[in-house]
Formats: sequence, C-alpha cells, structure tokens
Amino acid sequence: MQTVLIVEDNELSMMLFSDLLLSKGYRVRKAADAETALQILDEDVPDLVLMDIQLPNLSGLELSQMIRSDARTTDVPIIAVSACAMRRDRERYGRYCNDYLAKPVRVGKLLSAIHRQLPPEVKAAATANRADASVALSRQNG
Ligand code: MN
Repeated sequence: MQTVLIVEDNELSMMLFSDLLLSKGYRVRKAADAETALQILDEDVPDLVLMDIQLPNLSGLELSQMIRSDARTTDVPIIAVSACAMRRDRERYGRYCNDYLAKPVRVGKLLSAIHRQLPPEVKAAATANRADASVALSRQNG
C-alpha cells in the first residue's frame, strides 16, 4: 500500500484530501503543521507528500527544503498545494517540489498529479497477474 503524508492545517481541506486518498486505497498519515510532519517523517518515509504551503510556524516551503536536504527523504515526491499562485512563488516551489496545485484543488487534478509522481499500484498488480498467468501458460505448454 502506498503511503501519502498530507501536511495541511485547514481541517476541512485535510478531511477532503484524506477521505479522497483513503477511498482510492492509499494509506494516509496526517500532519497539521511542519513539526508534526517531521516527527512522522522520522518514523516512516512516505511514498509521497501532499504539502500545503501556508502553515503555522515553519512553512510548507521550508519543510519541503528540509525533506530535500535529508538523505532519507530526498527522493520523496512532493506536491505543493497553495492558494497563492504568483509566478514568483511557483518558481520557489519548483526548487523543492515536484508539482504544484492551486487551491481550490479539483479532485481529478489532484489524482492525476499524484499518479504522475506515483504510478498506481493497481497497474503493478495487474502486470504481476499477467506475469503469473504467462508462467502458468508456459508451464501448461511445457
Ligand atoms: Mn494552510
């Protein structure tokens, strides 16, 4: 199961993101601030981080920079989510984040952004089943 760490201080957005990802079969870890996210990252490296940029204390951008500079997490894809879509900001996200979504986030856009960073496991399972099937077939033939 693929794990997504959601870092989001808005309770409603957190609920929407988390319900959506759970319904799509992801394991979800939740952090309402960067400090909690760092604790979770210390325990468990997620497959992807969905990162709100406007957070109390440390910003999502600062947290993304920390994730990038830690060898354990440097390759974890980060999708930034932010209401401020100024070009200058987007350029800054681009330094640390793999993708960027403007709030309000549309479900379809969020899922396709996640799939771009994290190919769905369903595909891997389907390929594995095909491989099993072809092994079974070759056994039959052989
Ligand atoms: Mn926020």
